[in-house]
Amino acid sequence: MYGRGILKGLGVTIKHFIDTYIDDLRYGLNKYSKFEDNFTQRQSHEARGAFTIQYPDEKMAMPERFRFTPFLVVNDDDHPDAPGQDWCTSCGICAKVCPPQCIWIVRGQDPVTKRPIPEPEAFYIDIDICMNCGFCAEFCPFDAIKMDHDYEMASYDRTTTHIHDKNRLQKPFTYWRSIAPQITVEEAEARGGWEHVDVIKAKEKAAKEAAKKAAAAEPAKPATADVIPTGEQAAQGESLKTDTVDSAANVAALNRAEASTPDTPASDPDAEKAARLAKREAALARKHAKKEGGES
Ligand code: SF4
Ligand code: SF4
Repeated sequence: MYGRGILKGLGVTIKHFIDTYIDDLRYGLNKYSKFEDNFTQRQSHEARGAFTIQYPDEKMAMPERFRFTPFLVVNDDDHPDAPGQDWCTSCGICAKVCPPQCIWIVRGQDPVTKRPIPEPEAFYIDIDICMNCGFCAEFCPFDAIKMDHDYEMASYDRTTTHIHDKNRLQKPFTYWRSIAPQITVEEAEARGGWEHVDVIKAKEKAAKEAAKKAAAAEPAKPATADVIPTGEQAAQGESLKTDTVDSAANVAALNRAEASTPDTPASDPDAEKAARLAKREAALARKHAKKEGGES
C-alpha cells in the first residue's frame, strides 16, 4: 500500500547490486579465474549478487537431470572381468519408443552359430533429429543409454559429425557416475549392485546353485531317526511281519508300517520308494508261498 511493495522490490535490487561488489571483494582478482572450485561455489546457494559467465572460458555447471543427446554406457577400461563391454543388449526398445525414430541398431551375431547375441554390432543416433526427450533412457531396461550433458556439438559438417555411431556414443560408466552421482546411486540400488543387471542376476543364480550344492553335500539324516514309533505302530509292524500275513489289506498295512521305520534316508525319495517296493514284493511272495503250502 502506498508504494511499499515497490520500495521493497527496489531494496532487493539494491541488495543484489551491493552483494555483487561484496562478492568481487571476496574473490579479489580470482573471480573470473578458471578455478573450478571458485566457479562452482559462485553457482551454489552461497553465491551473492549477480555475475556474468564468461563463456566459453567459463561454463555453467549442468544440473544432474539436464539432458542433451543420448550416449551408451560401457564398462570401464579397468573393469576386472569385461573391460569396455557394452551394457546395451540391442533389445531395440529405445529405437521403438523414440518419437522421431532417429535410432538405428544392428544386432550382433555369433560368428560361428550366426545366432543373435545380446550386444549391438552397430548403433547410430542422428542427433540433428533427436529432440532430447529422454524416452530412450527412460525405457531402457538395462540402464544402457543415458542423456549426456555435452551440448557443444555445433559443426559445419552434418553427415560425418551429427550421426553418432557406436564408437562416438560409447562412454564409460565412471563418466555417467561423474555427471549424475545421485541418479547412479538410485539406479544401483534398484538393480541390486553397480554392475550390469545381467551380471547381478548371474551372480545371484550362481550363489543359489552353490548353496544348493552345499546343502546336498551335507550328510543326509534318516527320515525318521528321531521319531520313536508309537506302541500301536510298533505292535502293528511286528505282528504284520509274522507269517500270519494272509490278506492284501495286511500287506498294505505292512507297507505302511515298514515305511515308517528309520532304515531309509529321507533325503533320497527314489531309494525310499525302491525299498518299499522290494518289501511289498517280499510280502506278496511270502503270502503266495503260504497259500501254496496250505493247498498242497
Ligand atoms: S540401449 Fe537399452 S533399450 Fe536400447 S537397445 Fe540397448 S538395451 Fe535396448
Ligand atoms: S532422446 Fe528422444 S528423440 Fe533423442 S534418441 Fe532418445 S528417444 Fe529419440
